[in-house]
Parts: sequence; C-alpha cells; structure tokens
Amino acid sequence: MTDEIDARLEYNQCQEAVRRLTDFLSHELSPQEQQSVERHLTECRGCFARFHFEETLLQTIHDRLREMRAPAGLRERILASLNSAESGPSLSTS
Ligand SMILES: [Zn+2]
Repeated sequence: MTDEIDARLEYNQCQEAVRRLTDFLSHELSPQEQQSVERHLTECRGCFARFHFEETLLQTIHDRLREMRAPAGLRERILASLNSAESGPSLSTS
C-alpha cells in the first residue's frame, strides 16, 4: 500500500540522482539540481556508495592519464569512450 508507493518514489529519486551523477561530478548542474542530488546522497546509502565509487573512479582515471602522459591519440580515445559511457545512448547534440 503506502510502502509500495514509497518504494516507487524512492526508486525514481535514485534514478534521477544516478542520471545526474556525471553532471553533478563535473559541476554542470544548476545550484538547485546540485542541491537536490546532494540531499538525496545524504539520505540514500545506495546512491552515496555509487557516487563515491564514481568519484573515486573518475579521479583515478584522471590522475592516471596525467601520470601516464599517454600519446595524444590514445588519451583522446580513452576520454571519448569515457564520455560516451557516461552519456549513454541519449546523447544530445547541444
Ligand atoms: Zn538513491
């Protein structure tokens, strides 16, 4: 009954938070959106863990790229594949 509605609401909030995670990490959200993701992360362990994982992962990759001084072509290919993985299939042309 109400439990079911709550669960569905929570699920939607998680989807929303996960969808905005990349933009959140690159600080591309509006202050309002940024705040709502932050608030969700403080309330939701699942999303917080995911957020922390992604943040660490991104940080590690960026550090590695800087350390490696990979050839420009390779570096671009890695970044491009990262971007496409983050954006998913619904990449807008903006
Ligand atoms: Zn969540």
